[in-house]
Amino acid sequence: MKITEIPVEGYEKVVRCDDLAHGLTAFISIHDTTLGPALGGIRMWPYALDKEAFTDVNRLAKGMTYKSAVAETGFGGGKAVIIGNPQRDKSEQLLRAMGCFVETLGGRYIAAEDVGMTVADITIVRQETSYVAGLPREMGASGNPAPLTALGVFLGMQTCLDKQLHTDRFAGVRVAVQGCGSVASHLCGHLHAAGAKLILTDVVPEKARRLAERYRARVVAPEKIYQVACDVYAPCALGGTLNDITIPQLKCAIVAGSANNQCLADEHSALLQQRGILYAPDFVINAGGVINIAVEREPEGYREALAVAKVRHIATVLRHIFDLAERQHLDPHRAALWLAKQKLAAAKKHRA
Ligand code: NAD
Repeated sequence: MKITEIPVEGYEKVVRCDDLAHGLTAFISIHDTTLGPALGGIRMWPYALDKEAFTDVNRLAKGMTYKSAVAETGFGGGKAVIIGNPQRDKSEQLLRAMGCFVETLGGRYIAAEDVGMTVADITIVRQETSYVAGLPREMGASGNPAPLTALGVFLGMQTCLDKQLHTDRFAGVRVAVQGCGSVASHLCGHLHAAGAKLILTDVVPEKARRLAERYRARVVAPEKIYQVACDVYAPCALGGTLNDITIPQLKCAIVAGSANNQCLADEHSALLQQRGILYAPDFVINAGGVINIAVEREPEGYREALAVAKVRHIATVLRHIFDLAERQHLDPHRAALWLAKQKLAAAKKHRA
C-alpha cells in the first residue's frame, strides 16, 4: 500500500492510496477538525480521471465541515472516495484495503457510507479499522443514515413550501426527484404518504421504474428532469446539477434535495435567487444522516427517538437561515456558509 500526501491549501490533510495488489485507488480528504474528528462517507464512483476524484473528495470534505458545523454534531469535515465501479469492482479485499487506509489516519477521519457503498460494505471496512460510524443497528450503532437523511429533507422541503408557496401541505404538490437511490426511496415514501405527485428519473432506468410503480409516479429520461414543470426539484443523485446550463431550464419554485454540492459553484445559489427559485442549502437540509450518526456518541449510546427529534430540528435551522439571508441580503447558500464559518471561528477563538 503506497500512501502519498498531497498538500492542498485550506485543508488539514489530503492523502492518496495506491494498493494495486487489492485493486484500490482512493483519496481521503480531511478538511477541518476544529469541531471534532472529520466524519464523512466513503463514495465509490467510476471517475473517468483521477483529477475528478480528487476534486470531488475535497469539495465533499469541505461540505461536511459546514454541514456538521451548522448541525452542531461535534464532528469536523472529511470524505473519502474510491475510484471504481461499485457494481463491478467492489470486493472484500478492496473494502478491507480501504479499512487499512482509514486506519493509517489514527481516527482523524471517521468513515461512513455514501454513494456506491452500503452499510454491509462499511461493516467489511470495519474489520480493519475501528474508525467507522453508521454500522448496523444490531451492532449497537445508528444503522443506515439514509432514512433519517430523507426525513430531514422531507421536513426541510415543508419549510420551503411554507416560505415560498404559503402552505405546509404536500397534497397535489409536484416533486421532481433526480436519482432513485437510498435517500430518494425513503423521501418518496414520505412525499407519497403526504399526497405529493412524483416525477422520477435515474440513470439506471430500472431503479426509476421500480420506485415509480410503488408510488404511482411518472418517469422521465435523466436529461429531461430539469425541464419538468413542478413545484419542487429534488436533486438526490450527484453534485453539480445546479449550473449555468440547468438553472435556466428549471420550471420549479423550490430546489430541495439530498445531494451534496448541488451548486456547481457558490454563485449558482444567487442565480437561482435571481430566477425567484427558493434554494434549500444542501448541507443544511441533508444533515439528517450525520445527525443520526452523531447520536452514537451520546453517553447512553444510540437512541432512535433522540435522533428523530434532532433531525426534526433541521426545519427550524432552515427557517433561521432563510431569515438570516433576508436580513443580510444574501442568497440562502451564502447565508448558510456565513453561519457555518461563524461557528468555526467561534470554536477556534475558544480553543486559542
Ligand atoms: P445512492 O447511490 O443510493 O443513489 C444515487 C442514485 O442516483 C443512484 O440510483 C444513481 O443511479 C442515481 N444517479 C446518479 N447520477 C444520476 C443522474 N445524472 N441522473 C439521475 N440519476 C442519477 O446514494 P444515496 O445514499 O441515496 O445519496 C444520494 C445523494 O445524497 C448523494 O449526493 C449523497 O452524497 C447525498 N447524501 C446522502 C446521505 C445518506 O444518508 N445516504 C446523506 C447526505 C447526503
